[in-house]
Amino acid sequence: MQWPLLDSHCHLDALAFDGDREQVMLAALSQGVQGIVVPGTHAHSWPTLLAQCRSASALHLWPACGLHPLFIAEHTDADLDTLAMHLRDDSELVAVGEIGLDRYEAALITPALWRKQQQFFEQQLVLAQQHDKPVIIHARRAHAEIMRCIQRVGFRRGGVVHAFSGSLEEARRYIAHGFVLGLGGALTYPQARRLREIATRIDLTHLLIETDAPDMVPWSYRDHHADGRVRQVGERVRNSPAYLPAVFETFCQLRPESPEVLARAFWANTQRTFNLPLAPFSSPQRA
Ligand SMILES: [Zn+2]
Repeated sequence: MQWPLLDSHCHLDALAFDGDREQVMLAALSQGVQGIVVPGTHAHSWPTLLAQCRSASALHLWPACGLHPLFIAEHTDADLDTLAMHLRDDSELVAVGEIGLDRYEAALITPALWRKQQQFFEQQLVLAQQHDKPVIIHARRAHAEIMRCIQRVGFRRGGVVHAFSGSLEEARRYIAHGFVLGLGGALTYPQARRLREIATRIDLTHLLIETDAPDMVPWSYRDHHADGRVRQVGERVRNSPAYLPAVFETFCQLRPESPEVLARAFWANTQRTFNLPLAPFSSPQRA
C-alpha cells in the first residue's frame, strides 16, 4: 500500500539536484510524495528557490526563506532586509527557515560568530512573528540557547524543530512552546535508540516526517546510489525525497497506530504547521 506523504523538509534547490531535479520530483511522486517544503539557506539562493517552486508541476513545492546558521559567516544585515522584502512580497512563502543555532563545529562558535548566530536567529524570529509565519529551526547542540532566544524575543508563532536530535525533555519543552518535531533519516538507523524512544513517546499530533535530502540518507539506502551502483569508500549517497517512505515505514514499525492513522496524522500535521493550501488527505484505492 502506498500512502500519500508530504516531505516537511527537503533542500530540493541544492546543487546536488541540478542535473536531474525533474526526475527526482517524478521519482518522489511515484512513491506517494505529493508535496515538499523547501527551506532556503542563503539570500543569494532565494530567487532561484522561489522560481523552482513556482514552476514545479509534478508535485507541490512550498518555499521558505531563511539564513542558515551553518553559513553564518556569509550572511549580512542587507540579507535580513531582503528577507523582510520577500516576506512582504511573496505570499507563497510558508515559513521563515532554515534558521537556528549550531554549536557542532568550532569554526561556527568563535566569540564573534556565535554572537552573530544568536543575533541573526533572533532577528529572523522577530521577522517571522511580524509576518505571522512559522519557523523551521536547525538545532545542533544548542537546544538551551535556542529556547533562550525564543523566550528573549517572545516568539509565539511556533513551527518545526527539524531533524530533532535532543532529549525527551527538550522535545517536550519545544512542544510546550508551540513547536512540532521533524524526524527523518536518522530515525531509520537501528542504533538510534534515543530518537526512537522520542518517536514513540511523543503524541502523534506533534510529529512530522522529512528527508532533509540531499543529506541524511535512510538506513536502507545507505550503501547504493540511485542508479544501483554500490557506494565506494569515501563516497556519499545522495538522499532523495523519493526515500521518504523509508522514514514513514520506520514509524509504522515503531508506533502502535495503523499506517493509515499515521499517514493521515503526518499529512494533517504538516498542513497545519505550514498552513498549506492543500486538498485533504485521501486514502489510496485498494487494489
Ligand atoms: Zn535542512
